Amino acid sequence: MDRLRGDVTGAARPWPVVNLRSDTQTLPTPEMREAMLRSKLGDDTYREDPTVFELEERAAERLGAEAAMLLLSGTMANLVALMTHCRPSDAVFLDDRAHVLLNEAGGLSGVAGAVPTVVASNRGHLKPSALDQAIREPRVQQPRPRLVWLENTHNRAGGTVLEADGVQAIVRIAQQHGLRTHMDGARLFNASTALGVAPSNLLSGVDSVYVDLTKGLCCPLGALLAGSAAFIEEARRNRQVLGGGMRQAGVIAACGIVALSGLVERLGEDHVRARRLAGGLATINGIRVTPAIVETNIVFADVASVGGPARFTDRLADEGVLVSSAPPDLIRFVTHRDVDDAEIEHAIEACRRAADALRSTATGSDTISRPGGGDEL
Ligand SMILES: *Cc1c(COP(=O)(O)O)cnc(C)c1O
Repeated sequence: MDRLRGDVTGAARPWPVVNLRSDTQTLPTPEMREAMLRSKLGDDTYREDPTVFELEERAAERLGAEAAMLLLSGTMANLVALMTHCRPSDAVFLDDRAHVLLNEAGGLSGVAGAVPTVVASNRGHLKPSALDQAIREPRVQQPRPRLVWLENTHNRAGGTVLEADGVQAIVRIAQQHGLRTHMDGARLFNASTALGVAPSNLLSGVDSVYVDLTKGLCCPLGALLAGSAAFIEEARRNRQVLGGGMRQAGVIAACGIVALSGLVERLGEDHVRARRLAGGLATINGIRVTPAIVETNIVFADVASVGGPARFTDRLADEGVLVSSAPPDLIRFVTHRDVDDAEIEHAIEACRRAADALRSTATGSDTISRPGGGDEL
């Protein structure tokens, strides 16, 4: 907690920062920096980068898929999946808080041309019966039903996990209607860790999956898309359409290999710290949080009665505790490798002081805005 956190150039910030905004805020580990220096490289557009090959093979094996492909970001992986599964005007069935719907700049429709069809969900996960009812026989007047979208863990719902049976229930209905399935598994390894199962257990029958290398896994960039060999071949073309073809991408892949071989196993520590954080927050007058629903590394807290998210996050930032605001009422904490036990305790006490200060001055209006303190979850 007392150490000064350096940025990439090594410059120290003037105060110790507890950065709970996102699990993307981790810096590459020393092993990753080493691996970047040592990795064998080649031109990946020519399929000549051995380090990219190695990562893609390991990822396919880990996810129980025929093939996998490295991409620049999760947003690009989801977009490429949409372009590969769907033709323009095809319907995608998803929940109303899906990351692809709210946080991917509208590429689902704007680039892939897909039509989002919202289905009722429970803690972010589609209700099988509602999905069954939502999928209609294709008629000339309706978008053609094409793809069912799962998100596991579910970000906006608070890192909620869908277990293997739940995945199966959704996949079965998709298959009965002849639809395909894609899993936004940005944090699939958090789900598999929380359940104590292999990630492939959560993917049986799923046509494609993306996992992120930057969410809790410390890579500077990168995401993996996996599916059948034919799907990945077509996806490789669509990645190129987006300008996402890469050259000596082994520098990124080398980090991915370090992440898959050493950092997945420690994700459970983040879950323990998130539960501790939620337990601590629950003791603070004016903050509403339900520790029992914290399943992985994400904690949402309602701060409506202690100034609202903008004021509350401003006050916390003054103490060096960074969190995301999710207006109108919520703030979000995400635990990750660069936050230790002492920092969690510091964050809880900073929240207690902020709540005490803002409860007495609360005006009910929440108008302070902070640059970059918006809705980037
Ligand atoms: C972060 C995230 C993405 C997008 O990943 P980027 O690498 O930030 O583009 C997609 N889905 C979910 C659920 C996410 O949390």
